[in-house]
Amino acid sequence: MSAVGEVQTFRGPVAVGWLGVTLMHEHVFVGHPELDLNFPHPEWDEVASVEAAIAGLERLWDLGIRTVVDLTVLGLGRNVARVAAVAARTRIQLVAATGYYTADVLPAFFHTHGPGLLVDGPDPLVEYFVRDIEEGVAGTGVRAAVVKVVTDRAGLTPDVRRVLAAAATAHERTGVPILTHTHAASRNGRAQLAFLTDRGVSPDRLVIGHCGDSEDLDYLRELMDAGATIGMDRFGMEHVLPDDRRVGTVVELLRRGYAESMVLSHDAAFFSRVTPPSWRAQHAPHWHAENISRRIVPMLLAAGVTDADLHQLLVLNPARLLTPGRSKKEEP
Ligand SMILES: [Zn+2]
Repeated sequence: MSAVGEVQTFRGPVAVGWLGVTLMHEHVFVGHPELDLNFPHPEWDEVASVEAAIAGLERLWDLGIRTVVDLTVLGLGRNVARVAAVAARTRIQLVAATGYYTADVLPAFFHTHGPGLLVDGPDPLVEYFVRDIEEGVAGTGVRAAVVKVVTDRAGLTPDVRRVLAAAATAHERTGVPILTHTHAASRNGRAQLAFLTDRGVSPDRLVIGHCGDSEDLDYLRELMDAGATIGMDRFGMEHVLPDDRRVGTVVELLRRGYAESMVLSHDAAFFSRVTPPSWRAQHAPHWHAENISRRIVPMLLAAGVTDADLHQLLVLNPARLLTPGRSKKEEP
């Protein structure tokens, strides 16, 4: 296990105090291994994409960002060896994630492997998540420091419940936090929070993601009042909600005293097959990892947000969440 007050990164453990300004929900590369193998995306070039990610992360460093959590897990084309090649050449501290991204069903393998299934045995999801956290990912030695799970439009389908349950078990064994994707329009962070807390996860170890897509203050406050942190983590996704409205929600929640219960990020990617660079350039020009530093922080400051609030959102909350432990109350 990690020493007390240490967080695992692509380049090994770092003291929590060294995390600095942290983006909690980003992606370096999002792909689809089987499609990529058979039908490579015309905009993907391995060498150029790695160089672009390194250059982009270096620009983030120059803007004051110190740590970026890469929430690319299984189902999104996770390739930790490729990201490690990036991590080795940037000053930014990258954090790896384990978990599974599915909105509805898992691949067939998981329908034949697990308790009571054709190939009977323990749930491989639990084994994979715990191995990623305790030993490292796919022989790279890079250890995951967070678990990521997904609830989307379809809600808590049987396979989504299975992933969430496996994440709760991995959290129980390792203490790493759980960071999520939700479909904010369905307000399904509620059901996600209830499901995970029913399985023993303390809400203060959870970040309910994509809450910034919502302007329903009652919904957002309900999650935070229950003890969870919410991810205002899609700045620049103006095709879903314009940034000025995302900023308005953060400002109002800060005014109501929720500075300790929010984190900020973009859910951007240096390359994503789902929304390739040419599409982003045309339809979502602000959707990149520099947006918070370049546009959102100035908008927040202009709206009266204090430097202390920004430090809370961008430094203190990520550090508290990334510190391994089963609950705030248990820590010394
Ligand atoms: Zn994401």
